[in-house]
Amino acid sequence: MTASANASIDADYLLVGGGLQNALILLALAARQPQASVLLCERDTALGGNHIWSFQALDMPETARPWAEQLVEYSWPGYQLYFAESARWVEGAYRACSSEHLDRVVQQVVATRPNIRILTNTTVTHCDATSVTLADGRVLRGQLVIDARGPEHSAQRRGGGYQKFVGLECQLRQPVNMNAPILMDTRCAQRDGFRFHYVLPFAADRVLIEDTYFSNTPDLNVDALAAGIVAEAGRLGFDVEKVLRTEVGVLPMPALSTFHPRKTGALIAGYAGGWFNPGTGYSFAAAVRLAEHISNVPVAEVYGDQWKKLVRHQRIQAHFLAFLNLMMFGFFHDSKRAKLMERFYLVADVVVHRFFAMESTLVDMWRIMWVGAPWTPKGWAKRATAPANPLR
Ligand SMILES: Cc1cc2nc3c(=O)[nH]c(=O)nc-3n(C[C@H](O)[C@H](O)[C@H](O)COP(=O)(O)OP(=O)(O)OC[C@H]3O[C@@H](n4cnc5c(N)ncnc54)[C@H](O)[C@@H]3O)c2cc1C
Repeated sequence: MTASANASIDADYLLVGGGLQNALILLALAARQPQASVLLCERDTALGGNHIWSFQALDMPETARPWAEQLVEYSWPGYQLYFAESARWVEGAYRACSSEHLDRVVQQVVATRPNIRILTNTTVTHCDATSVTLADGRVLRGQLVIDARGPEHSAQRRGGGYQKFVGLECQLRQPVNMNAPILMDTRCAQRDGFRFHYVLPFAADRVLIEDTYFSNTPDLNVDALAAGIVAEAGRLGFDVEKVLRTEVGVLPMPALSTFHPRKTGALIAGYAGGWFNPGTGYSFAAAVRLAEHISNVPVAEVYGDQWKKLVRHQRIQAHFLAFLNLMMFGFFHDSKRAKLMERFYLVADVVVHRFFAMESTLVDMWRIMWVGAPWTPKGWAKRATAPANPLR
């Protein structure tokens, strides 16, 4: 039923929060349910906040490509990892999208669809199953309310640690010849847990350099870390001319899954609803999967059988990934985490891709536990799954 067919509602879908999750849901609905009316409320002046979202090919399944591919702003053929004693190339598309790009893509789609509206500078104070209350007291009604107000509305972290980082998008004095990201370079002084650099090359003279920690605490001295990135850029091969943008993240890596969808009230989506990967803190794959579901079923059937399957899938994956966090933060000393990561990347590319996409099979889980675990002799682990692709 569309809003026009039911005068008592403002839209079929009321989307609260205009970040990654609801932008994906909006794009999916625009493609799959062109007659549906959608109203999105965002507190800020633009959608998406201040992010670069990275994701792997499998995070965007074939079925989602027709509506999600337009978000691919940057694409690389794979990525590099550097550890103290080894290096590894992981083959397979690695992609990224900035907040500005997301905002642009969504606004372009909305401009052609009178039945999709976005209210920016609009703060929502309360949501329930079919209505939202705005800060100015207005009440909007819909058939389905999807509340994706982001990490600040997440359930309490349950044990584990944090992935925290400061990222600087830098203009370089000298262009560099770098055609793929560095997902992890651990050849830096280790402190505050496990530390590594992450680099995305956007252009020959523009890169994002992140200083990242898998830490027991959420504290982050942004100014000191930003100064440190510029100071260490030389070691990574970059001559920084100026910093164009700063990005900061503190993402919980819970030891117990926080994914417990409620059966009443608004549908809590995105990071706040536990639709993220506890092992990486990333949410792109889970957010795409949820957007696929919502756009594939009529609004009245969102909680039908497909929902139960989807929830079961997310729950199993989230428990597995949270268990890995329990091991990493609970069983191993900080100084062992770098080794743990090096061991994890002994598994085959496809296992890595499925791990990030929250698509691990039972065999993958066993491989990650067996090959990646420190109790497996390194020689055995290497023989069990030697990287399929040559190092670049
Ligand atoms: C710096 C950073 C980098 C990240 N990088 C990646 C990455 O590379 N890949 C990846 O997969 N994941 C990444 N993540 C994790 C995750 O994907 C993001 O946090 C993602 O943005 C979560 O999507 P979301 O829609 O749930 O929340 P958000 O994108 O945070 O969106 C929430 C939106 O709700 C709005 N809002 C909040 N309160 C209200 C209110 N009361 N009324 C109206 N609007 C409101 C906010 O302004 C915001 O726009 C990153 C997280 C951070 C913090």
